[in-house]
Amino acid sequence: MKPLNHQFNVNKLHLRVNGVPLSNGERVLYVHCNIIRQWAFYIHRKFEGTSYMAIGLDTSLLERPGKFSDPAVTAKGEQRARIGLGALKTLWFNTGTLCNLACTNCYIESTPKNDRLVYLSVAEVEQYLDEIRDNSLGTKEIGITGGEPFMNPEIIDIMELALARGFRLLVLTNAMRPMMKCEKELLRLKEAYGSAMTLRVSVDHFKKSLHEEERGAHSWAPMMLGFEWLARNGFQIDVAGRTRWGENEAELRVGFASLFKDHGIAIDAHDNKQLVLFPEMDAEAEVPEITVDCWDILNVDPGDMMCASSRMVVKHKGQDQPSVMACTLLAYDEQFNLGNTLEGAAVPVALNHPHCSKFCVLGGGACSAGE
Ligand code: SF4
Ligand code: SF4
Repeated sequence: MKPLNHQFNVNKLHLRVNGVPLSNGERVLYVHCNIIRQWAFYIHRKFEGTSYMAIGLDTSLLERPGKFSDPAVTAKGEQRARIGLGALKTLWFNTGTLCNLACTNCYIESTPKNDRLVYLSVAEVEQYLDEIRDNSLGTKEIGITGGEPFMNPEIIDIMELALARGFRLLVLTNAMRPMMKCEKELLRLKEAYGSAMTLRVSVDHFKKSLHEEERGAHSWAPMMLGFEWLARNGFQIDVAGRTRWGENEAELRVGFASLFKDHGIAIDAHDNKQLVLFPEMDAEAEVPEITVDCWDILNVDPGDMMCASSRMVVKHKGQDQPSVMACTLLAYDEQFNLGNTLEGAAVPVALNHPHCSKFCVLGGGACSAGE
């Protein structure tokens, strides 16, 4: 956006007044009109002792909407892609954004102080599980994310509720002290529900130095302690890594395989469900917008996008009730807030965010444990 009052050098603009090009050094004043969304120009010229004034509109500077500004159309005016919800296979709960860490590239900006998403209570989770049951939605999997979910004081009750209702449960964790404080309760849940419960441990990179570059100094050893404890005790575990350091996928998987082998952890690093590698998200990145024609051009199935089969329940700070967001990636963007109920949230989602392009359609990111 150009500033409201900006003087351009006339030589660059090729403007003419009464057919006479502006002379070198003559200046033109541009003013932006917010009502007609155009730039008006004003030129004052003295010619043979007489003052002339010219005003007009310069349509070459007509303001065009930027990318990701209109849910219906792209900046080029093409029809923006939308994704309808098929079956709600996975319902995510963000149990709160507070975290014991403040990772450099945390997609949800969690820190020990960020409580923009406040703790969900077990009663609030229950109302959504009731809605799944009452409307026979057929949901099979409950996902729990944060922040660090084990910071939520009701996390064990929330997990137990989901398991007792017969859902498969996936809990994302950094496996550090907050999780280890729940050692006994976790062992009890594992005894009762076995492999219905999966814990996904965040290990950003197989090298300690790079993991700590993302997560901070001294974050490796406590993570490994929790990770090995889970493995030793026979929990169903998988791992979330990051691709931010630029190695190719094969190299990364070989590196992780050797880490798991060295620590006696029975995870197959070459199985993309057991080791999930996430591309980085950068909302400022220059990415193309996704139009209705992109699916065929890119040979991508819209049904593979997270918002085609899942939703995420969050509670925004200051709100009385939780909200259902289109996916786990856009917890703060109100255009992806689909209301308070699952029924109301079963609407198509316009891919009107850079994450839709970079992370989902072009990056291949997915969160669920899969079928
Ligand atoms: S541990 Fe996870 S939730 Fe916490 S700051 Fe790091 S990436 Fe974010
Ligand atoms: S970020 Fe991905 S999952 Fe979320 S609305 Fe966009 S395409 Fe769907």
